[in-house]
Amino acid sequence: MLLDTDIDEVLARLGTAAQGFSGARVLLAGGGGFLGRYFIEIFHRLNTDVLEKPCRIAVLDNFKVGSKVDVSVPGPDIEIHSADITADPLPEGPFDWIIHAAGIASPYYYRAYPLETLEVATAGTKRLLELANSRRARFLYFSSSEIYGDPDPAHVPTLESYRGNVATLGPRACYDEGKRVGETYCHIFHGYHGVHTNIVRPFNVFGPGMQQQDYRVMPNFASQIVNGAPLRVYGDGGQTRTFCYIVDAMVGFLLAALRGVPGEAYNIGNPRPEISMGELAARFQAVSPLPVSYQLTEYPDSYPADEPMRRCPNIEKAERQLDFSPSVDLDDGLKRFLTWAIDAYRRDG
Ligand code: UDP
Repeated sequence: MLLDTDIDEVLARLGTAAQGFSGARVLLAGGGGFLGRYFIEIFHRLNTDVLEKPCRIAVLDNFKVGSKVDVSVPGPDIEIHSADITADPLPEGPFDWIIHAAGIASPYYYRAYPLETLEVATAGTKRLLELANSRRARFLYFSSSEIYGDPDPAHVPTLESYRGNVATLGPRACYDEGKRVGETYCHIFHGYHGVHTNIVRPFNVFGPGMQQQDYRVMPNFASQIVNGAPLRVYGDGGQTRTFCYIVDAMVGFLLAALRGVPGEAYNIGNPRPEISMGELAARFQAVSPLPVSYQLTEYPDSYPADEPMRRCPNIEKAERQLDFSPSVDLDDGLKRFLTWAIDAYRRDG
């Protein structure tokens, strides 16, 4: 399902820092999701190839939205719990780390499931922080670049200190405001209870493992290529994003877990290039082994309005404090993703 060569690259780039997980007990919420499945595979490979003492992973997921794929258990050190972090009893631990990667990250799905999206980031985060506090576990929270909303162009590339331009009442509010409240919970549990929290804010992570029905731009374009359909670029195609290949992103997330300064938040992304969606379609055309055409199209109803017009991280803080340095360039990442997707999506039918 994922590429072994990508996992090898993550392990090589982590180097000896990964020994920080030796013998650790980790609770991974959202293990059925796109990022969660990478965590499972990486921890499994750390256990078989790297760590002096294996770590133990308890995976939690409700396996509802966007994670219909079966999560296979690759080794005896990984156990799967099917539970909803907003309501069900949680595993007891003890735990050394709690990684909260549960959430509904695709705009298509959070438009369809607004309450679940809000609650997993608010009630879910609070419950996991209570568990972290009682077990003295470190806590890694998956926030989002969406917490900046549609940033003032004077603040692009965006620093962690930018306060955001976000609507409480817009169609994206369930996600943006939910993630913001989740961050505030981390801030409170760090400040009042001394929990070692770290927050990561991913910027458009992509790679093998994204499902065809994810509906974000990367899997949509790949699916359209596989099906011989034109790529559908929403609006005037001038809106920009930066894209971070999964290998770079996973290295950044794991370094934040291992080296994060208590209480701090980190942008994790690849700031170059900041690219418009029209240009992204042209890049796909240039790297694809299959023919590609593209066209501008009106926003579909299923995609929440009010999207950010620009998004690009300033990652100097993560470079400085975590020694994070993304190294997979966009064309290389697109080729790896597309090669995987052509095969996987064809098999999906
Ligand atoms: N987009 C597009 N075609 C698609 C899906 C998305 O042009 O089939 C655009 C969308 O308008 C946005 C960008 O791609 O500017 C990224 O959208 P995505 O849903 O991947 O995530 P977002 O960055 O909005 O969270």
